Amino acid sequence: MLSGKTALVTGSTSGIGKAIATRFAQDGANVVLNGFGDKDEIQAFREELAAECGVKVGYSGADLTDAAAIQDMMDYVGTDFSGADVLVNNAGVQHVAPIEEFPVAKWDLIIGLNLTSSFHTIRLAMPGMKEKGWGRIIQTASAHALVASPFKVAYVAAKHGIAGLTKTVALEGAEHGVRCNAICPGYVHTPLVDAQIADTAKARGITEEEVIRDVILAAQPTKEFVTAEQVAAMASFLCSPAAAQINGALMQMDGGWVAQ
Ligand code: NAD
Repeated sequence: MLSGKTALVTGSTSGIGKAIATRFAQDGANVVLNGFGDKDEIQAFREELAAECGVKVGYSGADLTDAAAIQDMMDYVGTDFSGADVLVNNAGVQHVAPIEEFPVAKWDLIIGLNLTSSFHTIRLAMPGMKEKGWGRIIQTASAHALVASPFKVAYVAAKHGIAGLTKTVALEGAEHGVRCNAICPGYVHTPLVDAQIADTAKARGITEEEVIRDVILAAQPTKEFVTAEQVAAMASFLCSPAAAQINGALMQMDGGWVAQ
């Protein structure tokens, strides 16, 4: 489906981003990975994906809190891959604490990574997409782009910001063949959530088992985690011809969380 196209997926060395990168490679796209992690493991994943799917797999270790590093990553995608046809802004971190104790450095990190980095990647990818008359921009947002939870002030603010960014870019790209949408998953069991379970247990003074049962899955009426593969399937669908008129949408995948 995406043969000859390139998908840049930020934060794709782990969790949801890794599943999305895998899915796009299976769909036939060349893929550029980004994110932190063990160099050998990342190299092994590149080789495995390239061999299994018969596509080219690149990697940028850019720290997306650094605008100059983002510029370098986009230059690499431009020169080695003829630019990003599909851009998935997925990299993100979380921190859980009451606002009066919320570390200022964590606020700056979360706004910088979860929100501002998407502004930079989009502003740099947009000219190429407009020139080609086709582009798909997908944000891994969150149910927290639509509703809040206590102790997640920076994350909720960043994800609500992503909702606004998504809608604005959708309007600007509309007549140029560019679509911009956000996927809003509920809880997906990834390393990010593992860390959050521990932090929430500390913040609320309860056990990790109680956090999963009474805090995390309490929010999801299905009482089931969303899987990374389900999010990846939605990203793939958003790049398909059937989704050509989906633009500026916040696609909920949360077992009914925000329906409450
Ligand atoms: P994860 O921790 O498994 O993966 C995060 C990725 O981001 C990793 O590849 C990591 O290396 C990368 N990363 C972290 N800091 C970076 C930086 N400064 N520069 C570049 N890359 C960086 O997390 P995940 O759960 O897969 O989350 C991915 C996205 O999905 C995030 O935006 C998150 O907010 C969102 N999300 C997650 C859930 C969930 O329940 N897991 C739910 C809704 C939305």
